[in-house]
Amino acid sequence: MTTDTLRTRLLAWYDANARDLPWRVGPHDHAAGVRADTYRVWLSEVMLQQTTVPHATPYFLAFTGRWPTVGDLAAEDDGEVMAAWAGLGYYARARNLLACARAVANDHGGVFPDTEDGLRALPGLGPYTAAAVGAIAFDLPTNVVDGNVERVVARLFAVDAPLPDAKPELKRLAGELVRDHRPGDWAQALMDLGATVCRPRSPLCEHCPVSAHCAGLASGAPETWPRKTAKIARPHRYGVAYVLTRGDQIALVRRPPKGLLGGMLALPTSEWRAARWSEAEAVQAAPVSADWRSVAEVQHVFTHFSLTLQVLRAEGEADNVIWSPHGDLGGLPIVFLKAARAGLSGLL
Ligand code: SF4
Repeated sequence: MTTDTLRTRLLAWYDANARDLPWRVGPHDHAAGVRADTYRVWLSEVMLQQTTVPHATPYFLAFTGRWPTVGDLAAEDDGEVMAAWAGLGYYARARNLLACARAVANDHGGVFPDTEDGLRALPGLGPYTAAAVGAIAFDLPTNVVDGNVERVVARLFAVDAPLPDAKPELKRLAGELVRDHRPGDWAQALMDLGATVCRPRSPLCEHCPVSAHCAGLASGAPETWPRKTAKIARPHRYGVAYVLTRGDQIALVRRPPKGLLGGMLALPTSEWRAARWSEAEAVQAAPVSADWRSVAEVQHVFTHFSLTLQVLRAEGEADNVIWSPHGDLGGLPIVFLKAARAGLSGLL
């Protein structure tokens, strides 16, 4: 199948299956000359960068109901817009949204620039948003590549290089599919295909209009694209946590301000190392001399390594510790909470 056939099939599929979205001008209205409102396209793209269509839709309707034009949004108080944004997360985006609206209102007479470079020059508008707004609102033949499009292209062309290294190649291949003919519909057709058919885990290849062109499907396992860089195995470490009790109190320490769990309350521990600790070594490394007994072992996974903590318990005295009631361990990070609970088990 040639690129032109692929395009014809995908656009025909889009004509019949385009999602009905509140910011979208559907393919039939578009063919009849209706243009999308740039403000609505831009607002939807900013919202969709961090959430899904079902989650973004009520926010989009609330924003456009309250601020129907970019000028209305630009004139609003920051606090009102921030409050309306609550629930969409990433408040830096809301601040950028306002900065962009004010730049359009104040520097461009309330009209968005109609070139990709002009859009890109607006505050907070990255290359993806500029390309998407350029294509959808102005029918510019831009190359609109988000995660959905990367997935479709990686499968269509069976690109074996893993992400993120494959990004430039995926963008290049996506760019080769763009034409001057219906560029806005093309961008949205690819987005819709990725969202509804070429789904991440279980692509519906039997419903795919471009399956005859898909090298990933021909391989028999299309869902294995895009390839990802194998995760580096986490190293494993071993340490000893000491549960020193005095009546119904437990000895805690404050960790040094820098480093892992810096400044947090903790149990006294040994060094964490690659080799398991023998009981004799563990007793020798204890913060005070006492009748230490091994009582438990707990596992914990940090971002960069996993940890086995042998837990030793003894009754005794110590200086330079924070005596805390057994029942008041809420300020401990999870790893030490697990070790303290395991160490106190039977005493609580
Ligand atoms: Fe995606 Fe399957 Fe279509 Fe290939 S045939 S583009 S894997 S849905």
